[in-house]
Amino acid sequence: VSFHPALGELLTHCIRCGFCLEACPTFEVTADERESPRGRIYLVRSALEGQLAWMHVEPHLNACLGCRACETACPSGVQYGLIAELARQGLEARKPNLIRKALLTGLTNPRVARVQFALARLLPGRRLPPPLSALLSGQPAEAQSPIPQSMDPWPPFEVPKTPLRGEVVLLEGCVMRVLFPAVHEATRRLLRRAGYRVREVHAGCCGALHAHCGLLEDARRLARKLDADLPADLPLIVNSAGCGSSIKEYAHLDPELEPLARRTLDITVFLFREGLCDQLAEAPGLDDVVTYHDACHLAHGQGVRDEPRALIAAIPGARVVPLPASDTCCGSAGIYNVVQPKMARELLERKWANIASTGATVVASGNPGCHAWIEQASREKASKVRVLHTAELLEAAFCGHRL
Ligand code: SF4
Ligand code: SF4
Repeated sequence: VSFHPALGELLTHCIRCGFCLEACPTFEVTADERESPRGRIYLVRSALEGQLAWMHVEPHLNACLGCRACETACPSGVQYGLIAELARQGLEARKPNLIRKALLTGLTNPRVARVQFALARLLPGRRLPPPLSALLSGQPAEAQSPIPQSMDPWPPFEVPKTPLRGEVVLLEGCVMRVLFPAVHEATRRLLRRAGYRVREVHAGCCGALHAHCGLLEDARRLARKLDADLPADLPLIVNSAGCGSSIKEYAHLDPELEPLARRTLDITVFLFREGLCDQLAEAPGLDDVVTYHDACHLAHGQGVRDEPRALIAAIPGARVVPLPASDTCCGSAGIYNVVQPKMARELLERKWANIASTGATVVASGNPGCHAWIEQASREKASKVRVLHTAELLEAAFCGHRL
């Protein structure tokens, strides 16, 4: 098996202190060192040095969520996310997982994804049929196919008096575009409130889901295409944490993507910087108890924690309650809930118990995967808790409109 030359060196940064163990959701559930960051690093290193067969490493790498809570906890700055991507790349080159690749190809092509989501509504429980789930994961399916949002839940937009200050581009993406058009609409409206017009461009998938699975060549190809399709002089605003986190790190993959990485910003960071908290203070607001779930690729991947909280706290009438273990992965993790359903379900149940303990009427977060997965829990529990993207919550506060 041939691995990226940087992998061996990246592994040496781990001093085996174990500070990452308690932060790791899969270790928390299993108490098995092989399902911890330190254990996985040790396994990859042993296999790379020829002391262990890769077949003993692969299941533990596959069980990793890629949540990167270990990076936040690590005092030595171990780049665990990159290690996992490079190790997966080598394994993928050795034994391509064609079913996973087909799943990704369909999901990240909006035309195909639309048909897939429509057909999935006909399946019992909107879940993968048992033979297909057995092929993908060896376990019964847990994730229900999400239902695309209706196109227009918003009241008419009154163009605000705020003078125009500039233009930005919004990453429409692949899954976001198909499943969450109302989130995109909320994002556009918030940007306009902040004084920015969204320049409409035809651009697609950023390759983040591919990168997380170790399909780095596909990720590079998609990212280059995205870069070529976007104007080079405008900030790229992203409302999907997983996409934003990947794009910001694409310089690792291809130095030519560095300028794209540098002008990419999460929507909450942009709005916070542009002073939306002050405007929110004048908004009609909402009568809700709100809690906030940190999407892993916002909190751990991009270090974005304060800006969404500050914006939510600025909503008149909203009572904000902290979510216990708010930055612990919910188990969605890209396509993890499809390829590792059992662990994903365990983590969803834990996340839901924490949400329920807050008494919140709304849970907000900034990533489509978390959104769809936590919404599934809310439906299953017949709960009244609404699951919203942070942008939806903020726009609803401006409109005084209950979503
Ligand atoms: S915290 Fe960092 S250095 Fe310590 S064991 Fe974990 S990955 Fe290695
Ligand atoms: S990325 Fe998440 S699941 Fe994977 S080792 Fe790190 S903390 Fe554990």
